[in-house]
Amino acid sequence: MNTVTSAVRKVESTSERIPFNNLAVQWDELASSVRAEFEDVFQRSAFSAGPFTSKFEVEIADYLGVKHAIGVNSGTSALHLATVAAGVGPGDEVLVPSHTFIATLWGVLYAGGTPVLCDVDDSTGTIDLEDAGRRVTSRTKAIIPVHLYGQPANIDGVQALGREKGLVVIEDNAQAFGARWNGRQLGGIGQIGCFSFYPGKNLGAAGEGGLISTNDDRLAEHMRALHNHGQTERYVHAQIGYNYRMDGLQAVVLRQKLRLIDRWTARRKDLAARYQAGLAGLPMAVPAIRHQDHVWHLFVVRLPERDALREHLSLANVETGLHYPVPCHRQPCLSHLSMDRNSYPVADRWAREGLSLPLFYGMTDAQVDRVCHEVRRFFSA
Ligand SMILES: *Cc1c(COP(=O)(O)O)cnc(C)c1O
Repeated sequence: MNTVTSAVRKVESTSERIPFNNLAVQWDELASSVRAEFEDVFQRSAFSAGPFTSKFEVEIADYLGVKHAIGVNSGTSALHLATVAAGVGPGDEVLVPSHTFIATLWGVLYAGGTPVLCDVDDSTGTIDLEDAGRRVTSRTKAIIPVHLYGQPANIDGVQALGREKGLVVIEDNAQAFGARWNGRQLGGIGQIGCFSFYPGKNLGAAGEGGLISTNDDRLAEHMRALHNHGQTERYVHAQIGYNYRMDGLQAVVLRQKLRLIDRWTARRKDLAARYQAGLAGLPMAVPAIRHQDHVWHLFVVRLPERDALREHLSLANVETGLHYPVPCHRQPCLSHLSMDRNSYPVADRWAREGLSLPLFYGMTDAQVDRVCHEVRRFFSA
């Protein structure tokens, strides 16, 4: 063991581990109200969709300022139904950023459509609209911007491209719950908004969950039927449907969290500001608010020595994450798609250089300071 490593080991033994996330802090604030309502769910056997899910749908539609909200069983299901409702089928193309979690693409693939990957903007990692515009063909039917890491994609630009080319805009808002654009909630701006309530998301279920939002009555009716076996009336199936309903128990957890989410988001913003101050002046890219708002689902710094910093932090007992180390244009499951895989230089760089530092509700200022201290130590070594 060299001297640097043994010095780090000594620090490790005296400092507690800083986890990448800790959801138990949220539970402390929820437990009493959630337990009481769980009792109700069991007494009424309202497990699958039903009154608790409906109540959550009404409240979250109000929060988002949309006409319709449909609770589903994952963000992936939301994206699938949105894609089907947009009329995407075999031969149709859908524009998506290459730097995202793979689930952004699943709906398009499940529907038999073709995802057309686009490069991303260097400062935000969100879809590069000039590149997207160049990839439009006569078969392009929709565009799925991703509000990455908690920051809006340029949704005005996406809407303009959508209008110009006649595309359905499906917002993937799995990561930016509560973020606004010109005062409006993300997910309520394009024709359809898709949300994930995977436990680690800013608004997370106690298991799997998701949501579709829209202001369009016809799309809402279609997606509501699709998520419940394609039923328009009981036991009448006009179309092939899915079982994508939201559980009553998840709806209870999510409705209680919805009451706290603005306070939790405000705390995330404070933590991010503390990181920005603590990391200023270092030779790496520190994330900033470039598109109006940011709810800091992730705090992703970028530097060429990403792997070395990750190792340094790991030895100092600080957990980090990679979101995402393999861009979509290099995923094995998409090797059948023809595209120029060297036409995504910015997405490749984000995948190679991005490092997610811990940022979660319940993290302390002292923990942020310790991470900053460790990062500074890495550069001064
Ligand atoms: C989490 C996530 C999804 C998928 O949501 P699930 O609820 O896990 O199915 C889709 N897109 C993005 C960008 C995500 O981060």
